[in-house]
Amino acid sequence: MLRMVEEDADIAYRMMEIRQCIDQLELAFSELAAEFQQSKHWEHQGANSAIDWMRFHCHMTSNAAADRIAVGEHAPQMPESIQAMKADVIGFPHLTVMARTAGAVDEAFDELQLLPLARESSPGKFHYKCLHYRHAVNAERYAAEQAEQVHARTLHMSTSDDGSLYLTGFLDSVGGAIVRNALEPLARRAGKDDHRRRPQRLADALVEFAGHKQKIQMQVTSSIETLLDVAGAPGAETEFSLPISSKTAQRWACDCSVTRVLMKKSVVIDVGQAERTIRGPKRRALVARDQHCQWPGCERPASWCDGHHIVFWTHGGGDDLENLCLLCTRHHWKVHEGGWKLIRTDEGNIITLSPRTMFSPPRGPD
Ligand SMILES: [Zn+2]
Ligand SMILES: [Zn+2]
Repeated sequence: MLRMVEEDADIAYRMMEIRQCIDQLELAFSELAAEFQQSKHWEHQGANSAIDWMRFHCHMTSNAAADRIAVGEHAPQMPESIQAMKADVIGFPHLTVMARTAGAVDEAFDELQLLPLARESSPGKFHYKCLHYRHAVNAERYAAEQAEQVHARTLHMSTSDDGSLYLTGFLDSVGGAIVRNALEPLARRAGKDDHRRRPQRLADALVEFAGHKQKIQMQVTSSIETLLDVAGAPGAETEFSLPISSKTAQRWACDCSVTRVLMKKSVVIDVGQAERTIRGPKRRALVARDQHCQWPGCERPASWCDGHHIVFWTHGGGDDLENLCLLCTRHHWKVHEGGWKLIRTDEGNIITLSPRTMFSPPRGPD
């Protein structure tokens, strides 16, 4: 028995030793990869890019090749981290996260802020912390990247001859978190005799959800600074999602059935209830006046709409009817994340201003 323990410890030690050698080789490979990218040798070889060439000749995935080039390119900006890897304090995967972060924030990058986080985190956790760092350094750019993801959203439904339905799709980080928040609680095992596989439980959850229109419980944890969109603030957090931008947090706080937890210096200062911020007589008055989404041309009914503050409450906008209007989820997104502006005319009509054409005649798209 004792012999076994010693042998196992030896295996563990050798694994760590080999992994460290691999990390050193990965770094050497990355430096060459960045040089190779500059050389344009790949072009003479008929490849479309250095990544393409590496994919074929080094038997790598595109992502793995791009990671190596990023590490090689950003190596001069992270000398301390490279030393930490050589001393076996962090691993090569930490370096790839560091390099991708350097690429995302450009000259604002400061490895000394990130290295302590790398030391104390697994690479996966470190990636998550670096996303908060990216939000803190440039919240506008982070929000723009998240908004960009939304354009790739897609859901295909096709019914086959026997009536069964095929689903395939892609959702952005925020949309995905909402769907998972809705389905995960319904997809839990119903006791120890529940032998359904997880994909079956998720399928049942989707059908159950669609059938009963369950109210979703989202919990958002955000600092005051994030909600106020202060420079240097981290992203907000919610289960099943990467850090969300302050723009999305503001939309949810505008009038949403989310539970919000507000933090100041890591201390919880307010736990809001999962209730609409505009409720009671005020909501009834708003619904009676607007009846449907107020985006020009949209007629989504009030029950599908949020109450939007035209001047956001953190910017001094009040809860008076003048400052409120109904917007469906999609158009609420356009105002907060999409950069469109809403203006109420003296006649009480809503007009929209596109982020791109602020000075051309306002129009409402689709
Ligand atoms: Zn709003
Ligand atoms: Zn609408």
